[in-house]
Amino acid sequence: MKHIPFDKAFIEGVVQDHPTPFHIYDEKAIREHARRFHAAFDWVPAGGFRNFYAVKALPNPHILSLLREEGMGFDCSSYTELVLMEKLGVRGEDIIFTSNDTAAYEYAKAKELGAIINLDDLTHVDYLDRHVGMPDLICMRYNPGPLKEGNVIIGNPEEAKYGFTREQLFEGYARARELGATRFGLHTMVASNELNPDYFVETAQILFDLVVELHQRLGIRIEFVNLGGGIGIPYRPEQVAVDYDRVSRGIRAAYDSTIRPAGLDPLRIVTENGRVVTGPYGWLVTRVQHTKDIYKRYLGLDGNMAHLMRPGMYGAYHHMTILGKEEVAPTETYDVTGSLCENNDKFAIDRQLPPAEIGDFLVIHDTGAHGHSMGFNYNGKTRSAELLLRPDRTVKLIRRAETVEDVLQTILWDGLDT
Ligand SMILES: *Cc1c(COP(=O)(O)O)cnc(C)c1O
Repeated sequence: MKHIPFDKAFIEGVVQDHPTPFHIYDEKAIREHARRFHAAFDWVPAGGFRNFYAVKALPNPHILSLLREEGMGFDCSSYTELVLMEKLGVRGEDIIFTSNDTAAYEYAKAKELGAIINLDDLTHVDYLDRHVGMPDLICMRYNPGPLKEGNVIIGNPEEAKYGFTREQLFEGYARARELGATRFGLHTMVASNELNPDYFVETAQILFDLVVELHQRLGIRIEFVNLGGGIGIPYRPEQVAVDYDRVSRGIRAAYDSTIRPAGLDPLRIVTENGRVVTGPYGWLVTRVQHTKDIYKRYLGLDGNMAHLMRPGMYGAYHHMTILGKEEVAPTETYDVTGSLCENNDKFAIDRQLPPAEIGDFLVIHDTGAHGHSMGFNYNGKTRSAELLLRPDRTVKLIRRAETVEDVLQTILWDGLDT
């Protein structure tokens, strides 16, 4: 059974102040995981291992702030995320800017903040130099193409839009050096929601080999490798979390057999995971609003796809628990829906659940990453509030729910007869 850090009585108390639907995040569990994650790689030399949290997964400054306290840096993918960093007072090499199809103004912001810029394409070496100047430290994103199999969410690397080809990397680093860069990083990201630990070891080996070859062919010394994000989480009760110790041992063996003999030690190792850092520690709490019995049976929630898009967008599985019925047998089969005028607004299809009634609290698991942040306003739907469950068991509102006024505020009413 999947863990939930609250029960029905607790949520009955919470809804006195904060009506459903809302996402709620468990601070204690997020902190404990962050410590465990960093500790698993404590052998990494030169300042050690560090995860740069992928801000897009849960861009709430209250969450970012506690991750910062746990020693994480931040991986930003857009101008807005960089502005969020600025507002939080995060600067410099605590930020990696990994973007694609990037505009000059975004690079300018990244450079102004002193962020590590991670280029997505060979043409961006000159583009960056022309528009904002080549920084001292530059990182490049490798797309291993046929060397590596991708997975469902991110696709096959050969068909993915990201990164440089292998040969382009040699040209890219040489050119960046010509333009004045003196410090270099190497990045790749080829998986998303991957649960196989060996996958991350293979990725590290591919990058380590490249670090050696870049040194041999260009005399360039890579300072850090960024293994990207993509560590998966057990969305399904029968799945198992990635064993960090196993990944760490595998990467260490690759480091010892590849980096050390080449005399390229110390090399820093970083990642930019989002999902695994907060995903399992968030829940979307909804209520059953209607039940419906036609050709199939439906539970209509007070939440919808604007609050959690993953099931509707790519059929992702999110586990569900009805509070107070944790021990009741799942004898019923339902499609669990939201209210959007889109038939894919379903949190689950043919899900086995205990008999549900109107008013039941239905909790959707693992919404702490790529949950609230993927929300949108189609059909005039408003995004939900976000709550933080503090270690002292109090609940803090960390983002209010959107209102209709929020959704309508960009409309220019002038000149309309109203
Ligand atoms: C989305 C993304 C991440 C984070 O992915 P997770 O699955 O949340 O770990 C990291 N890096 C890049 C470049 C991304 O696009």
